[in-house]
Amino acid sequence: MTTSLIDAGVNLTNHQFDAQHSAIIARAKAQNVSQMLLIGCDINSSQQAINLAQQYNLLATAGVHPHDAKSADGKLETQLRTLAAHPEVVAIGECGLDYNRDFSPRETQRSVLHRQLTLAVELNLPVYLHERDANEDMLAILQQYSVRGVLHCFTGDQHALEQYLSLGLYIGITGWVCDERRGKSLQQLMPMLPLERLLIETDAPFLIPRSLIPKPKSHRNEPSYLPHICQTIASLKGLEFATVAKQTTLNFQQLFNHKG
Ligand SMILES: [Zn+2]
Repeated sequence: MTTSLIDAGVNLTNHQFDAQHSAIIARAKAQNVSQMLLIGCDINSSQQAINLAQQYNLLATAGVHPHDAKSADGKLETQLRTLAAHPEVVAIGECGLDYNRDFSPRETQRSVLHRQLTLAVELNLPVYLHERDANEDMLAILQQYSVRGVLHCFTGDQHALEQYLSLGLYIGITGWVCDERRGKSLQQLMPMLPLERLLIETDAPFLIPRSLIPKPKSHRNEPSYLPHICQTIASLKGLEFATVAKQTTLNFQQLFNHKG
């Protein structure tokens, strides 16, 4: 029997997917992608992700992305506690630091991350983490907490990989690894990433795998392309597709305490 895959990060609330949720999920299931984690980026999109998760029997996160950190106010903890009480919510996030775009002031990003890490500890939930060009600050903050979680869409260097692994985090790999130009250094790191710490995710509708053949007419990524990412990682690690599929599904279930 083939193991079904789990997409550990889908932005299904993105407007690019409006009115197409059933079709997107059906195409994913046809490719054996049986479960997906729907990512919330602020209070509104977290609520929307939960609604979709309820409707389609999927899972969701609740949190505030660093881009939206400036939207968080004094009600953040109360709002996130209410959202996280839904059984579909298996993680706090997407939260973290993004010094690449700086859509929110860095000081605000750090403070909103601290508040979500504190809440994750209180609720005993894993965190879904985002980090771009903020490796040192991210590590300094994470070291202050005892949290389980995933560093999603990892694109850092070997040092960053080793540091995140030493904190016990899982590492989320997206179609970035399929990019023949900017994915090169990530490809070289794949043999150093232990299979037991790997999660696979599309981050759809973003980051369409550039090595898909034939190239999809729409430039929009979707969860049905997850097997291609799984196969690319398997090849880079010198493993069978089925081995990577099976272990990443198990990893997801272990991290998020979720069966099937
Ligand atoms: Zn992200």
